Amino acid sequence: MQTSFTPEFIQTADGERVNKILRKCVHCGFCNATCPTYQLTGNELDGPRGRIYLIKNFFEDNNANASKEIASKHLDRCLTCLACETTCPSGVQYGELIDIGRKHINTSLERPVLSKIKRKLILNIFSSSKRTSMLLAITRICKPFLPTTLASKIPAKINLPRHSSSQNEPHTTFTRKMFTIKGCVQNAAAPQINLATKKALESSGIQLDEINSPCCGALAHHLTELEHAHSTIRKNIDYWHQMLTSEYNNLLINSSGCSSFIKQYITVMQDDNDYAEKAKFISERCIDLSELANELTVNTSLDKNKTIAFHSPCTLQHGQQINGKIEEKLKQAGYSLVKVIDSHLCCGSAGTYSLLETDMSSKLLKDKVTNLQQYQPDIIATANIGCLMHLQSATKIPVKHWIELIA
Ligand code: SF4
Ligand code: SF4
Repeated sequence: MQTSFTPEFIQTADGERVNKILRKCVHCGFCNATCPTYQLTGNELDGPRGRIYLIKNFFEDNNANASKEIASKHLDRCLTCLACETTCPSGVQYGELIDIGRKHINTSLERPVLSKIKRKLILNIFSSSKRTSMLLAITRICKPFLPTTLASKIPAKINLPRHSSSQNEPHTTFTRKMFTIKGCVQNAAAPQINLATKKALESSGIQLDEINSPCCGALAHHLTELEHAHSTIRKNIDYWHQMLTSEYNNLLINSSGCSSFIKQYITVMQDDNDYAEKAKFISERCIDLSELANELTVNTSLDKNKTIAFHSPCTLQHGQQINGKIEEKLKQAGYSLVKVIDSHLCCGSAGTYSLLETDMSSKLLKDKVTNLQQYQPDIIATANIGCLMHLQSATKIPVKHWIELIA
């Protein structure tokens, strides 16, 4: 793709990056075939190729407010699911491109006041486990009075067993030592996932300690609240770097949205002279739980006589290109996996997308649940808290994190 950016823009670090990425695109449109939002609306601007043109036009002539508003609307509608990156035969790094596009386009426009308030509220509540817990407690009390669609989104309260951290037989010698983070939404809505992770790892000879880091910064980054995101990331890097240079081998993350984002610290912080090197160090030592799947010992007392539909989150299959490891582990454990049609498509959760782009998100959810339920599985399993809660709001079939079926 030919570009004609202004000399001022092309000489910036973002200008060079955008130029390099755009030059790889050959306009073939293969990416549209696997784009969930293009499939829904049929509008070229709701597909990756159209969005690429919107970003290109912005950087070639960014003065017209009307075109900025159109660009912003269609970039907001993008799930950042990265199905297009998986499909693209030319290796266009769409994820990096849309991050740069959003940074410049969204910050050059004033959003309507209500939209700004909504985004601030989402960021402030869901980046904190405490505030998410408070919101869940209030909404659970009000649940009988809420409309069904809203009530269905409130997860049931999980009561953890007493002395839960020592319920497994401790492994006498650990071969590796890892840490995980307490996190934000998952800790409030599904604390049993970290518990199951610790149990599975420690039964397999890997010590896992939980530290009190509240959020990886993905939430702020996806809302283009970049100062907030960078400040969170810097705090995390300082803390985690110290852990990883002392006694811990790896940072282990069991929610693929967070592991995918921490692996992107290397890119997100590349222009920060003080943190770029340390960000690379962290990204290289972050592992998603699925990468350990084949090492994990399966709890023999669990009932494996169940059928499972596995939903692979976009942040796992497209963002990290990790495929088949969890499915293989579940089969090895004794479960039967059913076929899932269009398994490459996003469920519509996509971080804050389900709260901001409710119409598109609901349509994607409906299609995804229909496909997951098609062969009547006993359980739906996934690997990311956002997908888990989103899917559970639309089905009576229990939706579990895969580690709960192993530990
Ligand atoms: S598939 Fe790749 S090269 Fe083709 S239009 Fe999409 S981004 Fe460009
Ligand atoms: S990231 Fe997903 S929604 Fe966005 S353009 Fe690519 S395929 Fe479409």
